[in-house]
Amino acid sequence: MEDNYRHKGLRKKLLEELAVKGITDKNVLEAMNRVPRHFFLSSAFLEYAYENKAFQIGAGQTISAPYTVAFQSQLLQIEKGMKVLEIGTGSGYQTAVLCELGAKVFSIERQKLLHDNAKLLLHKMSYRVNLVYGDGYKGMPSFAPFDRILITCAVPVVPDELLMQMKSDGRLVMPFGEGKEQEMMVIQESPNGEFVSEVHGKFSFVPMLEKRNSQR
Ligand code: SAH
Repeated sequence: MEDNYRHKGLRKKLLEELAVKGITDKNVLEAMNRVPRHFFLSSAFLEYAYENKAFQIGAGQTISAPYTVAFQSQLLQIEKGMKVLEIGTGSGYQTAVLCELGAKVFSIERQKLLHDNAKLLLHKMSYRVNLVYGDGYKGMPSFAPFDRILITCAVPVVPDELLMQMKSDGRLVMPFGEGKEQEMMVIQESPNGEFVSEVHGKFSFVPMLEKRNSQR
């Protein structure tokens, strides 16, 4: 695994592009600058690693486009030391960005193949993360409550189980809806204990599915 000047140059250009597109959070841009995205794609696709595009990572799933990763990370408003639950580890790229933001990350993936690959890679890169092969709908009750919850697949119904695992001053970020496009939604608890949501534009994610999948 090599991160040379060419990769670093391409990464810098991509981050400039994201800033122009409206990513203003310096912490997010700096965190993404520290993660070599090409490690998370198969080496044959190196050319595509620093384009603002989603890409196939196996098991019919995709690594989210860099702008999407930056946008979700920005909406999360992470502070150092926060406990963050991620649903949909996928390639592990977003997981690494969350670590670089100083979060204590817990991430669940339902595809065995992707979980295994991400675990190997993130450990090789020396990230200390809690990766679980399981069904994200259940969350991780034994590690709850979380300061932040991030869902990186399209959610058809608001998962109550996950809201219950969020701190009262927490934030949940998820693409909400069925069909080709979803609304990027932030859910927070109001002072009177009700959940309130706001939406931040349309995105396109692979669907959140139930139960684990061991097929390769
Ligand atoms: N953040 C990842 C995104 C991967 S795509 C990346 O940038 O690489 C979304 C992932 O969510 C897929 O890997 C998919 O298998 C996973 N997923 C879908 N439903 C899930 C569930 N119920 N629990 C855990 N992971 C789920």
